[in-house]
Amino acid sequence: MKVLVINSGSSSLKYQLIDMETESVIAKGNCERIGIEGSKLTHKAKGQEFVVEQPMPTHNVAVSLVLNALTDKVSGVISSMQDIDAVGHRAVASGEVFKKPTLVTDETLAKMEEIQDLAPLHNPPAIVGVKACKEAMPNTPMALVFDTSFHFTMPDYAYMYAIAYEDYEKYKIRRYGFHGTSHKFVSQEAAKYLGKKPEELKIVTCHLGNGSSITAVDGGKSIDTSMGFTPLAGVPMGTRSGDLDYAAAEYLAKKEGMDVSEALNYLNKKCGMAGVSGVSSDFRDLTAARDQGNKRAALALDMFSYACKKYVGAYAAAMNGVDCIVFTAGVGENTPCVRQAICENMQYIGLEIDAEKNLEKNNGAIRDITGKNSKVKVLIIPTNEELVIARETVELL
Ligand code: ADP
Repeated sequence: MKVLVINSGSSSLKYQLIDMETESVIAKGNCERIGIEGSKLTHKAKGQEFVVEQPMPTHNVAVSLVLNALTDKVSGVISSMQDIDAVGHRAVASGEVFKKPTLVTDETLAKMEEIQDLAPLHNPPAIVGVKACKEAMPNTPMALVFDTSFHFTMPDYAYMYAIAYEDYEKYKIRRYGFHGTSHKFVSQEAAKYLGKKPEELKIVTCHLGNGSSITAVDGGKSIDTSMGFTPLAGVPMGTRSGDLDYAAAEYLAKKEGMDVSEALNYLNKKCGMAGVSGVSSDFRDLTAARDQGNKRAALALDMFSYACKKYVGAYAAAMNGVDCIVFTAGVGENTPCVRQAICENMQYIGLEIDAEKNLEKNNGAIRDITGKNSKVKVLIIPTNEELVIARETVELL
């Protein structure tokens, strides 16, 4: 069975064609700059990279170029679109409407449209991507796999905000959490690596990338997570502020003459690591600047690690202990100084990392950086959200 996984952004469309018998990637690629000048498709298959530079005014054009690349005589890996058995689409926000992966039908698409204002940056492009695929492959079964699904096991006292209960009931304002496919994947991989069942473990998973979230996984289930109603909450991120006193946002908005949506745009795009450092949202730039003596880059990195450390401690408290901490995603897998700072001074929970192993280069495999006297395992596990989406799609069908 071959599953095409689609992750559709506002101006991009990433894809992977996965052979589910072997769970291996047959081809993958990325359409960039959809709807703007300079569109480009980069397609990787058969150990080669193929680049198609062609205007992509819409996601429909992007999808047809992807299907061409997949079936092309030179770059292709399948003989026709009929060889694609199913399509799994990544979707970010679900509200309480979709608690599980869901088949794409006219009805589910209509419901997705109803809830699109829950994640205005993420959901509308996903809907556009689904529609474009539907048009190109009307008879292929498709699934929507949500970033939020894994977190629906949170107890009410963890997902509720202390607002008037009627407003929760009326508008479903609550913590949803995101990166669920990643937290699920790495927590399951950690259990496999440790030779235990997920039910036997208390794990804190740290998905640290451009967007970052931390989750408490108790007995295989998410019981709390740092992102909230939207991906703006939790630790500071590349350009997002993370947790903030709302009154500070209101004060700033008044001073700068911003309306609510301008203030939110500011909190999503102008803050976080980029805002504090004035250097960049990218951790490679930040560590390089800090090493050259840039104090604000150092401050941004310290703030990030400190915020992550507090979540790890909070989740150890929530679970009455922790057996394993997992680092994943761009920063989690590639930035030793962040892992080091988060794990420092954690003797109170018996945690210690091996400083040398922590410095070893990322080789794409699971790395165990547990210190020799540590009671808590510390693992670096490359995430694979596309594989989870493909697995969930197969399960649903
Ligand atoms: P997202 O999927 O949220 O866009 P990623 O998980 O790709 O983000 O993480 C992006 C961040 O990870 C960037 O800050 C970048 O500096 C860091 N990063 C990604 N790859 C590497 C790498 N090979 N070496 C060092 N840092 C990396």
